[in-house]
This record gives sequence, C-alpha cells and structure tokens, in this order.
Amino acid sequence: SDAAIERGRRAYELDRSHVFHSWSAQRKLDPMTIIDADGSWVWDGEGRPMLDFSGQLVYTNVGHKHPRVVQAIQEQAATLPTIAPQHVNDARSEAARLITERLPESIQHVFFTNAGAESNDHAVRMARLHTGRHKVLSTYLSYHGATRLTANLTGSLRRVGSDQAVDGVVHFQPAYTYRSAFGSENDEQESERALAHLRDTIEMEGASTVAAVILEAVPGTAGIFMPPPGYMAGVEKLCREYGIVLIIDEVMVGFGRVGEWFGHQLAGITPDIVTFAKGVNSGYVPLGGVAMSDEIYESFAETPYPGGLTYSGHPLACAAAVAAINAMEEESLVDNARRIGEEIIGPRLREIAEKHPGVGETRGAGAFWAVELVKDQRTRERLAPMGQAAPVMGKMMAEAKSRGLLLFTAENRFHLCPPLNISDDDLRFGLDVLDEVLALADEEVAA
Ligand code: PLP
Repeated sequence: SDAAIERGRRAYELDRSHVFHSWSAQRKLDPMTIIDADGSWVWDGEGRPMLDFSGQLVYTNVGHKHPRVVQAIQEQAATLPTIAPQHVNDARSEAARLITERLPESIQHVFFTNAGAESNDHAVRMARLHTGRHKVLSTYLSYHGATRLTANLTGSLRRVGSDQAVDGVVHFQPAYTYRSAFGSENDEQESERALAHLRDTIEMEGASTVAAVILEAVPGTAGIFMPPPGYMAGVEKLCREYGIVLIIDEVMVGFGRVGEWFGHQLAGITPDIVTFAKGVNSGYVPLGGVAMSDEIYESFAETPYPGGLTYSGHPLACAAAVAAINAMEEESLVDNARRIGEEIIGPRLREIAEKHPGVGETRGAGAFWAVELVKDQRTRERLAPMGQAAPVMGKMMAEAKSRGLLLFTAENRFHLCPPLNISDDDLRFGLDVLDEVLALADEEVAA
C-alpha cells in the first residue's frame, strides 16, 4: 500500500541517519528496504515483489510469516512473554524435547543461547572444561561467528579485525575437492588426504592439548561445499582415537536445510556437541543452542557450569521453535527440501553449469546450493580474488532484483537458500531468472 511505501521511505532516511550496519563501509551502503514478506516472497521499498532465494541469512526455513509460528509467538506473548532462565517454562521444555528427539540418542540436553556465535562460544568452553585441554582445531574456509573466540575460529578473511591469533585456535585445511589444498582430483583422494592432514595437525599440536575439533556439518558461508564421502566419519574416528570433543556447527544447515533434520546425518556420524540457531525457529525471534552428549553433561552434573545468559531459553523464542519444528514435521518440509534438491535444483544447476562458461561448479543438497563463478573453467580462477566481490556479481544481483528475484552472493558465488516450502513453480521461476542473469558472467569470461 502507499502508506507502507511511505513508511518504508521514512525508515530508509532514519536508517541512513542512525543505523550502523554489519560488515559494511557505512557511507557506501544503499540497503534495500523491505516493507512486507510472506511465504517465499518479500516486497521492497517500492512495493515490488521479489522471490527470496536468500533465506535472508539462510534462516527462513519455513518461509516468511508462517501463520503457525506467528500465532505461537502471539499466544506466548499473551501468556508469559519473558521469564528468567533459572525458572522452568513450558516453551523451553518442549523446545528442548523436540530438538533432542531429532538428535542422536546420546544427546539429551540443550543449553539455549540467542545466536550461533554464542552457541559456539559455549560449546568450546564446555569442551575445554570437559577435557581439561585448551586448543581447538577448526578449518580454513569456515564461519563460526563474530565474537572474539568465534571470529578466531572462523577460517576466512571475515576474522580480520577480531583475529588476535590467540584463544588456542589452530586452523587446518578443509576437504574441498573443487579447490583442493592437496591437489586432489576426486572426492576419494580429497577425503583421504584431508584426513591424513588432520591427523598430522593433531599429532603435531600434541593430541593431549586439543580439546575439540569444530566443523560445520556442511561449510556454508565459505562456499557450500559438501564434505566428500568418508570425510566426516574419518574426522569422527580421529576425535574418538585422541579423546577430542567433536563439535558440529549446525547453525546454518540444522533444521532441514540440506534435506535432513541435521547436516551431520548426511554423513551418519554422532557428534559430541551440536550447535544450532537460525533454522530452529526460522529466526522469528533470536534463538540458538548447544546440544550436548550425556558424557559432556556429566562433567557439569555435580560441578556447576560456569556460564549463563540472561535470555537463555527465552519463552518467545522457544515458543517460535516449538511451532516451527511442529510445522516442519507436519508439512514434511525436510522431505520437501530433499525432494526439491534432488528433483529440481540439482538437475537444473547441472544444466546451467554446462551452458554457462562463467560457471565453474554448482553443488549442494536440499535447499542449500552454491553456484561458483570463474574466469576460466579450466584453471578455476575465481571471478574475483578471495575475500572480494566482483563488480559483475553486483550487476547480476541488481538484474535479478529487477526481474523479481532476491539472490544471496558471497565472493564469487551465488548461494541459493530458498524456504524449504517454496512452491515448485516459484522455484522454477527463480532458477529461470538465475539462468538469464548468468549471461552477464559469461561476458566476463569472453572479455
Ligand atoms: N556458525 C555458522 C555455520 C554460521 O553460518 C553462522 C552465521 O551465519 C554462525 C555460526 C554465527 O551465527 P550468529 O550470526 O547467529 O551468531
């Protein structure tokens, strides 16, 4: 409506006057206003509809304004909008039950936080206290958050500025076949070599000093690259061999994104700790958590855990989680994510990869896919150097927007992360637009 557009304009002015944005040079920004959102669609400041392939920051798993989640928040607000973490509240108890029910038998307890970074912070603290060891191993090309510790864990240029090279963090190379650090030519080689490298890293650091290995179930922000078969199981085995806590960061892929409730289920492994946020309640109210094995729990059964958060288990956030998980279950959204990945997105992206010389690789699962752009398919030279965005990515984004599609870009990639309940027609429309705008990248290759 005109009134909503007018409010959007006022919001934009106030934003530019008073709001400080994440990850940005403040004066160079021209942020997009959203005046409404529903299902798989958002409406920009001029009231133009756009199909949301971004998942915002990869969290709107049930889509925008899911009626059931909205209603649960409204009802909770009317019943018990807030209560301190030391008190039992039914939203939190039920959320913990629903979450642990979907995790391995050995994981029965959840410590609730407000976000992904906090979850990883606490997971590492628990692992350190549990093992009495200090070091934590994490991969290059990872993202674990923007607090001091989690920025250090993060293995990409996103840690610049928070990177103190302290906190006992040691980085190792991930398994990433397309850009192998080990010169691998296929998944089997990559898995084997990356595991040998991790074993070396553990041994050279001194296994008895390593508290935890932390890994994204599927690395997201750094490129959505699926771990090659055998890799995650190999990591699990190394952790068991050396008594190291295995923390699987499911912040981005947990709750259905890759067509399983949790990403680690793709590899059939049993983590000691699972961290989550985002998809747990589709981000309607901030919520994260640390789900821990009984073994870790035992370390704090008689001795207090020396940590806490004012909003741990906030009723509004937990009520949203209960509603979102129940909606996902009843609407079979996890199966739907798997189906659209296998039947629609995967096949169409393979076609796109063959057709466009600017596309180096497409990969993913469920509703979680990357399209990686290159200057040269043979050398795999990135469209822009690591840590930088190519101007043509911005052009493609703008072109897609003008055709009604909101895309998410990172460096030389598009990340496709639609809601898990997107309709097949909407999905096909979005993939058509992507196909069209990729012609702009092809021109760069030709140039
Ligand atoms: N871990 C992973 C894998 C993530 O993708 C993110 C955010 O994108 C985080 C942690 C940090 O989550 P938050 O921004 O909620 O702190």
